[in-house]
Amino acid sequence: MQASRKPNPTVASKLPKKHIAAATAVAFCLVGAMSLLPSKNVQAKRNVIAVDLPLDRQPPRQAVNLTPEVATTQDDTESAAQPLNWQETTINSGDNLTTIFKRLGLNASDVYTVANARNEHKPLQRLRPGELIAICVNDEGKLAQVKYTRSSLEHYLYERNENGFEGRKVVLQPDLIPTHKTVVIKSSLSLDANKAGLSQSKTMELASIFGWDIDFALDIRKGDRFSVLYDEKFLNGEKVGSGDILAATFVNQGTTFSAVRFIEQDGSINYYTPDGKPMRKAFLRAPLDFTRISSNFNLRRKHPLYKRIKAHRGVDYAAPRGTPIYAAGDGRVIASSYSKANGNYVFIQHGGKYTTKYLHLTKRFVQKGSHVSQGKTIGTVGSTGYATGPHLHYEFLVNGVHRNPRTVKLPDARTIAKNQRHEFVAQTTPLLNQLSQHSGILIAQAKLQD
Ligand SMILES: [Zn+2]
Repeated sequence: MQASRKPNPTVASKLPKKHIAAATAVAFCLVGAMSLLPSKNVQAKRNVIAVDLPLDRQPPRQAVNLTPEVATTQDDTESAAQPLNWQETTINSGDNLTTIFKRLGLNASDVYTVANARNEHKPLQRLRPGELIAICVNDEGKLAQVKYTRSSLEHYLYERNENGFEGRKVVLQPDLIPTHKTVVIKSSLSLDANKAGLSQSKTMELASIFGWDIDFALDIRKGDRFSVLYDEKFLNGEKVGSGDILAATFVNQGTTFSAVRFIEQDGSINYYTPDGKPMRKAFLRAPLDFTRISSNFNLRRKHPLYKRIKAHRGVDYAAPRGTPIYAAGDGRVIASSYSKANGNYVFIQHGGKYTTKYLHLTKRFVQKGSHVSQGKTIGTVGSTGYATGPHLHYEFLVNGVHRNPRTVKLPDARTIAKNQRHEFVAQTTPLLNQLSQHSGILIAQAKLQD
């Protein structure tokens, strides 16, 4: 894009008039694009990056928000005087480009040209509520630019040129700052994590890392604690989200579990114990969304249903009706049906040795014969069949014999491959050191045996 605001007259005179108009419009819009960026960036409370300056002494906004070629043409002192022609709207549910453009005072032909932009027109067909669309009109009232913002780190920019509209995706690279939190559980994992400033999704990430070892629905106790080291994302000093969990340790009923991130050769991310065993195992400890279980259930040693049912061959998870139930492991559905006693039930076969059973469901989402992967939602909690209240009755069978799913010993996963061990130690040692320092919990360092 040639976005020079003062085109060199000798060059400009050689350009077709239409082109100049487009170039000027784009230049106007640039000013607006900058102003649409978060304005609090230099006032961020995080002292890691931001410097608090009096308003009139704030440094100019960094042009790195846009592409480098734009950055070189940006001149803040001059831009302050330019009129801003941008208009922005939030996407509502049910919106499409037509309804949005209408709201912004544009017509059907504008919709047509932008929807047929030469590149990146497809994202405009998948607008999601809460995202932003901004348009820039030139001084002749003609649409010059459209900015579709998916997140503070990702947007699409559509610009008019001689051939109509041309789109491109802009992805911004945030700074990653490691952050540490230690939480002691007093009421529930979700509540206490939230109080400590961890987002719900970060808590879920943590639970999914440890979910193969710890039953977050039934085994969490008052006094359990965890420490987590994770990246926070900053853009020009403003927090824009969080990144990966780098390392974490969880003390559950006196037993300490630790996990550390490892970036595999193919770039994928997996979590391992410090001695190189994958955290991911063949079965989840609790096959349901524990965040839906209220805190009183969480912290109770045994819930009433468990005691009452005689000759009980499984575990009962009392949970609100509709709570999602997950396949505990990869497998094949061998039954998905209804009976008077079981109500709606699903049985899954995992290889030759293991079977899991899920009873009293409200809804079933899988059919007999289908393959499911671990964590897939197979149904929801209910009270169909012989059930006194909504709960999941869960059974775990090894070679046809009922076993306690919460204590059954499963085969140990294999340690990370030999040719990866050097890299593993190099990547994970600094993360585990940082976590040990912050948490005060001594975490065994990577010691891999051949
Ligand atoms: Zn039961």
